[in-house]
Amino acid sequence: MPNPFQYALLQLSRAAAVRPFREDFLARLRQPEREARVSIPVPMDDGTVRMFEGYRVQYSSARGPYKGGIRYHPDTDIDEVRALALWMTLKCAVAGIPLGGAKGGITVDPKELSRGELERLSRGWVRLLYPVLGPHTDIPAPDVNTTPEIMHWMADEYGKLTGDRSGAAFTGKPLEHGGSEGRAAATAMGGLYVFQALREALHVPERVTVAIQGMGNVGGNAAKIFERAGYTIVALSDSKGGIANERGLNTDDVEKCKQTRCSLHGFPGARDISNEELLALPCDLLIPAALENQITENNADAVRAKAVLELANGPTTPEADDILFGRGIPVIPDILANAGGVIVSMFEWEQNLKAEHWSEQQVFEKLKTLLARETEGVLERARALGTDLRRGAFIIALERLEDALSRPLQN
Ligand code: NAD
Repeated sequence: MPNPFQYALLQLSRAAAVRPFREDFLARLRQPEREARVSIPVPMDDGTVRMFEGYRVQYSSARGPYKGGIRYHPDTDIDEVRALALWMTLKCAVAGIPLGGAKGGITVDPKELSRGELERLSRGWVRLLYPVLGPHTDIPAPDVNTTPEIMHWMADEYGKLTGDRSGAAFTGKPLEHGGSEGRAAATAMGGLYVFQALREALHVPERVTVAIQGMGNVGGNAAKIFERAGYTIVALSDSKGGIANERGLNTDDVEKCKQTRCSLHGFPGARDISNEELLALPCDLLIPAALENQITENNADAVRAKAVLELANGPTTPEADDILFGRGIPVIPDILANAGGVIVSMFEWEQNLKAEHWSEQQVFEKLKTLLARETEGVLERARALGTDLRRGAFIIALERLEDALSRPLQN
């Protein structure tokens, strides 16, 4: 199977086949502006020192400072980080926000580390990379397995090294350390706003059944937010497997159960399912909210949802996109569907720079207005070009990037 970066480049070419762009512009976007690989020495609790590999890919600064999350995962490598950094570049452009795209990561299974080891690893990543980070240079955020606490350690380490105590070099921090109201739920809330803006056009009924793969920050919040909005959550999962109940799951009860046990399996009143079964469940809306390459040419035929909302990055391969499009199942693409996270990260950055604190209501109102406008634009563009929403979103992003790169000082 191609790696995620090869898939991201293929998506770029597929969009450019619908609406041609200058080849020199595309060539510029096919590679990151800057990449850093670091070897992080971490003093372990047993007195030894272990080395970890870390990355930061600064893909494009054409539209503003680099911005993007940091992932901790045993499978994270430079190609995954490159793909995520390219998607961030396109996401910020499609959201119309003045930020570029970046991503970072560390190849590590954080579950194997103690809290102290995790803190030393996180501070070590910053110590090696701080010269290329900063509120006006590159602003990291959370992603898979990185928490508000980790963002606080990183912001604190950055402050110690540079004297910049604004907190604006990192987003996704805890509220008491300069975080924004609504940041934790922002990606899922943004997904709801995007879905609501598209629902009628996609011919999905008003009160729908939803299956969600992944129950972390994004999937867990999506479950609660979609349930509170009146939808029926029929299936949930994490890396170990999932549960289903066609009559609906109470997401608060599922979360309580998850906190006290290590597996969702055995949840009272639900049947155990695998992640593969979850993707093939009959439901109105399927939300992949875990990792890349989940819906592929091998299982796209089995999808029985009426629409797919990509809250994860890169969950659908280009081959699967074609199968779903051919079957009339719309895919609401990641670079639009999960843009709520980076938009509220931008709000946090703005609040830190201005020493302000906005209410949750202000944050979500601004988020909804912005996403409703940009979602409408993507739908119109896809319809006008007779293409899918992913290509429509890519084309809008590419046009905005081309415009930014054609300004005299950027050449
Ligand atoms: P997280 O670490 O909080 O949660 C990840 C979840 O996925 C966990 O529940 C984990 O058990 C589950 N999981 C892992 N492997 C799985 C598998 N093979 N099958 C099913 N479930 C699996 O991470 P997150 O922040 O919720 O990120 C999830 C996705 O959303 C990622 O693709 C990430 O890039 C994307 N995303 C995150 C943000 C954000 O703000 N955190 C913003 C935009 C996009």
